[in-house]
Amino acid sequence: MEQVDILVVGAATAGSYFARKIAEAGHSVLVIEKLTKESLGRRLDIFHVAKADFARFELPLPEKNDDLAFEFSGGRTFSAFDRYPKNTPATVVGMHMYRYIARLNNWAREAGAVFVYGAAFLDFLYENGRIIGAVYEQNGERHEVYAKLVADCSGIPSVARRNLPVGYGVENFAISNTEQFYVTLRYVVYHDPMDYVKSTRGWTYYKTWEAPEGSADSAILGVGANYSYDEGEKVFAAFERAVKLPRYTVKRIERGTTPYRRPPYSFVADGFLVSGDAACLTKPSAGEGVTASMVQLEIAAEVVNRLLDEGGYVTRARLWPINTRYVAAQGKAFAGQLATLIGAMSSTAEENDFFFQHDVIFSDKTFAALGNGEPLAFPAGELLRMAAVMAGGVFTGKLRVSTIRSLLRGMQNGSRAEALYASYPTNESGYDAWIIRAEAFWKSCGSMAENTVK
Ligand SMILES: Cc1cc2nc3c(=O)[nH]c(=O)nc-3n(C[C@H](O)[C@H](O)[C@H](O)COP(=O)(O)OP(=O)(O)OC[C@H]3O[C@@H](n4cnc5c(N)ncnc54)[C@H](O)[C@@H]3O)c2cc1C
Repeated sequence: MEQVDILVVGAATAGSYFARKIAEAGHSVLVIEKLTKESLGRRLDIFHVAKADFARFELPLPEKNDDLAFEFSGGRTFSAFDRYPKNTPATVVGMHMYRYIARLNNWAREAGAVFVYGAAFLDFLYENGRIIGAVYEQNGERHEVYAKLVADCSGIPSVARRNLPVGYGVENFAISNTEQFYVTLRYVVYHDPMDYVKSTRGWTYYKTWEAPEGSADSAILGVGANYSYDEGEKVFAAFERAVKLPRYTVKRIERGTTPYRRPPYSFVADGFLVSGDAACLTKPSAGEGVTASMVQLEIAAEVVNRLLDEGGYVTRARLWPINTRYVAAQGKAFAGQLATLIGAMSSTAEENDFFFQHDVIFSDKTFAALGNGEPLAFPAGELLRMAAVMAGGVFTGKLRVSTIRSLLRGMQNGSRAEALYASYPTNESGYDAWIIRAEAFWKSCGSMAENTVK
């Protein structure tokens, strides 16, 4: 029987980052990964991370002719009719995912973490009803590992979290088909050098974007949709009718999904932590989850390392600061953004164009906040200005009353979500009462899947 301090399930970005942070504090970590070392991280080619996040999370830098694909600064987001651009100022680094994950695995290994590939989590080990480790299978053989904490970083399948008994302390829901964002990436070559891409463009209305790909003549055309890839294709066709793209040839197409739902109310239980896509820690505006998860994992590592130093069983009560500190650092803002976006996207193309023209919701400030994971703040003066503009829009027949109602409901829900998460319980005792309020709130918001291109 193996014995470690921490067992991590899943060796991609979330699992590797947590393993490194635990191992560098001198604690033992075993990471089990279902895939072979060669196939790990190949579900996507290019992914992006804001350049500032490398310093923020002390991440290893990608290198030319290896995992680094490109770096670019600045971007613009346009209305449904390709007008009224808003700036998105960040500098972004594009990387080849499987190579960067290999770098992260090595980075964690250098600190002492041990990786086992082709090893699939099967179940938890319990003693007196509390988790004390897990069972995994490798080459048809069962292995038991005692661990003080099992961290589920297994992505959307959430293999460990879903295996928790009902009432253990972390919800064991499956991330359903309607709770995922379906992303299709077209890797294309542009025919005319005049069109080569140097930064990024986005069209919020179609959830569509154009980004560099790494080589000068190539670009990535991405589209995301709430229901299915087919829905994304329909939206992409509508986008191409409305927005004139450069002439291109498709090199290849990639598809994948990302969680698009609220995270579990608690990330911790006795001997257990969930993070990454398994905890739905993706940006509500873009579905990006790599460094969004690290906000929580950085806190988690600090708390867990301290508890390991103190000794004793790692209970839910002792892990609770992970919940409270994460909610304050990012969870509250993400909840507000999610609740706002449910209403703010329910418009026609003409209405979206009007909003961009008049900086109603879709302003430089909003895109900066979405990019940085900050709360969407609409001070009283700004609300009054938007109300006057919208009244004018209704008067001139450019806006429907129902759209304004839905937009206002979205903004109101955003504020309610932030207030709800601002009252997140500081310890376990207020949790059950808080969940009842939270359930009622999210039910009243409706579903993200309801908002699509009209
Ligand atoms: C098309 C697309 C583009 C994206 N682009 C970006 C981007 O540019 N920037 C960004 O930040 N985010 C992006 N995202 C989101 C991002 O990919 C995810 O949020 C992030 O990769 C999740 O990391 P993770 O480590 O939580 O999970 P995963 O990367 O899914 O890793 C989970 C790991 O767990 C392993 N596992 C599963 N089951 C078991 C088991 N039973 N036992 C052991 N191991 C198991 C899996 O094999 C896998 O290696 C994109 C998503 C998509 C679909």
